[in-house]
Amino acid sequence: MTSIAQALQQARAQLQTSDTAQLDAEVLMMHVLGKPRSYLHAWPEAQLDTKQLEQFTALVEARSAGQPVAYLTGQREFWSLQLEVSEHTLIPRPDTELLVEQTLALLPADEPLQVLDAGTGSGAIALALAHERPHWQVFASDRSPECLVVACHNAARLGLGNIHFFTGHWCDAVAGQRLDALVSNPPYIAEQDPHLGEGDVRFEPRSALSAGSEGLDDLTQLAAAATRVLKPGGHILLEHGFEQAEAVRILLKDNELSEISSIRDLAGHERVSHA
Ligand code: GLN
Repeated sequence: MTSIAQALQQARAQLQTSDTAQLDAEVLMMHVLGKPRSYLHAWPEAQLDTKQLEQFTALVEARSAGQPVAYLTGQREFWSLQLEVSEHTLIPRPDTELLVEQTLALLPADEPLQVLDAGTGSGAIALALAHERPHWQVFASDRSPECLVVACHNAARLGLGNIHFFTGHWCDAVAGQRLDALVSNPPYIAEQDPHLGEGDVRFEPRSALSAGSEGLDDLTQLAAAATRVLKPGGHILLEHGFEQAEAVRILLKDNELSEISSIRDLAGHERVSHA
């Protein structure tokens, strides 16, 4: 027989290569038991049944081989919403909450705005916006049908009816519309960046992460699309790498967009640009 505490201790030892060994082990245990973290601490002596132990052991094995915890549990929290993710979607990052926060801060809350999240992946940005602004009509596009299945499940599970999903590249699906805002967290890592070969990102879709030799290919397309899909006075908000702010401001300026600014994250890095 193995108790929760014993299984967690073994898992921590096996996951030593991860800097989040303790957290990873607990999240996987919570997933197997279907219980909150408080349960693990309240009942460390509780025994796992054979099936639970087998499942936990297999998950710890996969984690020690590098698989991201979010793909093993199929879930990740973003903007306090519990989202389904799959290996077809990027795992939503806390950094992207800055983009959501700025979109909410810069656009009028009570007007029935039309906003597009281009390249929605798991739906993270669109879902957070739709959740916070029930009066807005949120559009979400992705060219991956597998991502859209995940994003649609998330919207249905969260009971969000004010999101409309489209298969298509960036703004193609809404061509002809005039939107109040275009928001995106596109791929922006340079193809040769060695970070793409390290840690959890190795398991994420390359197409969600990298964008040409400088990482600017998709940001370039989005800046150009803004002039076609935005209403006069509409807003574009783009997430980018912290060393790309100057390049993104130039892209926005080259497309005749005005009132350009970059916003810093808590670490002081310019992570979002707005025009
Ligand atoms: N919009 C999604 C997110 O922020 C997916 C982004 C991506 O795949 N580059 O998580």
